[in-house]
Amino acid sequence: MKSFDILPLGRSMIENLGTMGYDQMTPVQAASLPHVLKGEDLLAQAKTGSGKTAAFGIGLLHNLDVKRFRVQVLVMCPTRELAEQVAHELRRIARFKHNIKIVTICGGVPFLPQKISLEHQAHIVVGTPGRIEQHLSRGSMNLAHVTTLVLDEADRMLDIGFSDSIEAIMRHVPENRQTLFFSATFPAPILELSTRFQKNAHRVAVDVAHEENVIGQYFYECEWEAKADGTAQILSAHQPASALIFCNTKRQCVLLAAFLETKGFSCLAIHGDLEQKDRTEVLVRFSNGSTPILVATDVAARGLDISGLSAVINFDLPFESEVYVHRIGRTGRAGKEGMAFSLITPKERFRLDEINLMMGTCFKVSDIGSFSSLGAPDILPSMVTLSINGGRKAKLRPGDILGALTKEGKIPGSCVGKINCFEFYSYVAVESGVADSAQETLSTKKIKGRNFIVHRHE
Ligand code: ADP
Ligand code: MG
Repeated sequence: MKSFDILPLGRSMIENLGTMGYDQMTPVQAASLPHVLKGEDLLAQAKTGSGKTAAFGIGLLHNLDVKRFRVQVLVMCPTRELAEQVAHELRRIARFKHNIKIVTICGGVPFLPQKISLEHQAHIVVGTPGRIEQHLSRGSMNLAHVTTLVLDEADRMLDIGFSDSIEAIMRHVPENRQTLFFSATFPAPILELSTRFQKNAHRVAVDVAHEENVIGQYFYECEWEAKADGTAQILSAHQPASALIFCNTKRQCVLLAAFLETKGFSCLAIHGDLEQKDRTEVLVRFSNGSTPILVATDVAARGLDISGLSAVINFDLPFESEVYVHRIGRTGRAGKEGMAFSLITPKERFRLDEINLMMGTCFKVSDIGSFSSLGAPDILPSMVTLSINGGRKAKLRPGDILGALTKEGKIPGSCVGKINCFEFYSYVAVESGVADSAQETLSTKKIKGRNFIVHRHE
């Protein structure tokens, strides 16, 4: 591990990183930042959760000319959630200096407020290609002063089919610019994109494989009809604090989540068909611990920074071994031990053979019937999520919500969990025992001079 001190960064940058708890660079940061700082083009590959955002964020914020109030940096992300996460991380890093303005420009929200906020100028735009392209074609965004362009999760961006939008957007940014691509994988189309849009790009690939010893991997064989029961058995036998379950189809996600609910588990499903607002809500409820189990497709789950997962369960094994590696990489992060369980039918055994071949392992299958004592499910969440019909547009910040709960509501701060403020909504996790009084406080007392409607989700 290398310290950030060895980079040519200012004192205030290093100090702010320190307050974020960033003392050592992650491997992808150590490999990328020297190039990013020098203004060079870069193609970087590292697994999810390896700190890619700061690997470009620190460099581009250091290089930003704050006095020049024009869009100097454009960061493109595949989904709105990812764009929000990246903007959030950039805003935290940007605290080293005053007055850096970062705006998010994504689809699924009204156009006009974005147009107005772009008219007021910004240094950095983070957004999704579709909406950015719309603003460009309507003349409400000017990228003529861009010095650095970032494609985050570039592989995923192409999967979604954003290549035409990216192409169109590239025509609006100056030729003479720095272009950074970050990706968890490097499939051929990314390399093509790189040759077309980058100049002498440096390539770094770090932290690509997962260490076997950090993730315990278990394979169970059962007939297809027994998989749902098998999933419930795994959950009750191991009682993971949080679990992400992968199915190969949207329909299976919905069915499995409904089945687990009937078995007494608190769980949600996320898949591509959900409305943007519902997706955000599901992710908030999972990441703040108020719903411990999430059932997802690869497309819906990929790239999300849900850290510290106790377990990943493959209800279905993916069609490609790389995807398996990617999925299980969400558990056992940052030195924490994780568990990965996979259910396979006799017909699917060849997929395990392929995984063993690729990873050089020799995992065996056990019989799902080998679980003996199955107590009743005990993973009832201790937290409840409350949603508030106001967010950053209503000038609500996490501190305002925390303040209302602790001062007005006399709720101990230790009973309040994660608070997320989005543009039009906010969410707060509170311990179940204080949920009633928290809801009462937030819906009856004025916050920032306004009354809000508060819903409870469980
Ligand atoms: P990726 O984009 O590679 O999936 P992220 O940028 O989302 O990863 O970072 C994953 C997590 O690691 C985040 O919670 C982030 O705050 C944390 N992180 C990033 N860099 C560091 C660092 N140098 N030290 C400690 N934590 C870090
Ligand atoms: Mg990322």
